[in-house]
Amino acid sequence: MAWVLNENYRRRNSNERPEWIVIHYPAMPGANAMRVRNYFYDEKHKTSSHFCVDDDEVLKVLDVKYAAYHVGGKKTSQNGCYNGNSIGIDLCDDKVNKRSIRVEDNDWFIHAETMRNAAHLIAGLMRQYNIPIERVVRHYDVTRKRCPRPFVGNDASANYPGMTCNELWEDFKKKCLSEYRKFGR
Ligand SMILES: [Zn+2]
Repeated sequence: MAWVLNENYRRRNSNERPEWIVIHYPAMPGANAMRVRNYFYDEKHKTSSHFCVDDDEVLKVLDVKYAAYHVGGKKTSQNGCYNGNSIGIDLCDDKVNKRSIRVEDNDWFIHAETMRNAAHLIAGLMRQYNIPIERVVRHYDVTRKRCPRPFVGNDASANYPGMTCNELWEDFKKKCLSEYRKFGR
């Protein structure tokens, strides 16, 4: 298993640097970070991301100096974020009923420990690359794809009954910000 430059990822252009952080889910219920990373490393998938996070670890998949193929090019972007100026992070997902993996299903969720690990990672990247919380976005915010599903939609969150998926996303961003503030000045 190996990646091929320009098939699975590319060099950033001289005018491109990480200005956005984009959150995804792999839609592989119960798969850990290593399994998701191995999926990406299979060159035939033509896709990549920089980090895979599960409840136990953060795996670096691709050096941030390269552009991952995770959110598309400039043309499909709704907000100016695209592969060349962003960092892609996959949060491992899970599901109540693992036999169905339709995006319409409303039982997708992300383990609390996975969110904690991701918030810590994101806070560190915000600090390292000087990225504000307003530029920590969902794949959905860039192209309207319903990704990461546990953070997208006005239906009830499978993580926290009484909260919608969209509200869970807002709550998650607050966690990232509070981790970021722990670094102090
Ligand atoms: Zn995505």
